[in-house]
Amino acid sequence: MTILDCHVHTWLYPDHYPGDVFLKFIGGRPPGLSEAQFKEASTRRAPRILKEMKEAGVDKALVVGLKSGTTLGMDVPNEFVAKEVKSYPDKLSWACAVNFLDPNAPAEVERCVKDLGAVALGEIGPGYGFFRIDDERCFPVYEVVRSLDVPMCIHAGPTIPSNTMLKYTDLEALDSVCANFPELKIVLCHFGEPHCEEAAHLMAKHTNLYADISMLPFAAGISTIFPTTVSYPYFALDHPLLFYFSVPARNRDKLIFGSDVQHPKEAIEGFQGVNPRLEKMGLPKIPQDAFDRIFHENWKQVFTKIKA
Ligand SMILES: [Zn+2]
Repeated sequence: MTILDCHVHTWLYPDHYPGDVFLKFIGGRPPGLSEAQFKEASTRRAPRILKEMKEAGVDKALVVGLKSGTTLGMDVPNEFVAKEVKSYPDKLSWACAVNFLDPNAPAEVERCVKDLGAVALGEIGPGYGFFRIDDERCFPVYEVVRSLDVPMCIHAGPTIPSNTMLKYTDLEALDSVCANFPELKIVLCHFGEPHCEEAAHLMAKHTNLYADISMLPFAAGISTIFPTTVSYPYFALDHPLLFYFSVPARNRDKLIFGSDVQHPKEAIEGFQGVNPRLEKMGLPKIPQDAFDRIFHENWKQVFTKIKA
């Protein structure tokens, strides 16, 4: 049984952090960290990814790109991601990122898949790039993705930087894309957090829509790297999963494990805590075999170019 982590990043600090956008977003370098420590913490390369995978018992990972220059402040060249995974074909695959409004986007996706070995498109961030995914100007990308038969991983839900707009992260736009491009396989990053109920509804409705569950433990305050002040994880982690598993059965096998910038071991332990908490509250538990499929099986329906 193979565990795939479908949402992992690679980047270099400061090379892939244009301007001081990211530093401003986080309110400056944390006072406890020297410049060298901050550089190390803000850089993610293949050896670190592989080390964390080993510590977590994860077999394979999909390393996704990101274009978020003026909002989150990270732009990772596709060539860099392709090169970073190249030496580890049994462990690491990659996904290319583009801004859908870039006239060169369809050609870039084609180049990345055909020439550089990308197995998916992502992480696409309409909120970070100021576009709606139901905008007709995005459709040429969908046509290319459909012809290449690769899935798209989209952070279609809300984004945090204050210069991003909710109008670009409206899950209604995802509803339209799923309906108008039924052959596309779409993975909604972070389960649409914080709109997980809407995401579960869309996944029940559209057979082509899946979701990764990356950063849900983080949203619930389960994080040693960036501790957040959440007094109890029920609303951000346990409740969305319970809601998801309460909708029709055809919807059950579409969640896929991902860790994003959280250590995968910490993410897995976060999910292992769900049932004990639900039990304590007298709520129904999530079947263990459903959890097993989230980690081992569901990804195989979507990431068909990654060998199991
Ligand atoms: Zn991400």
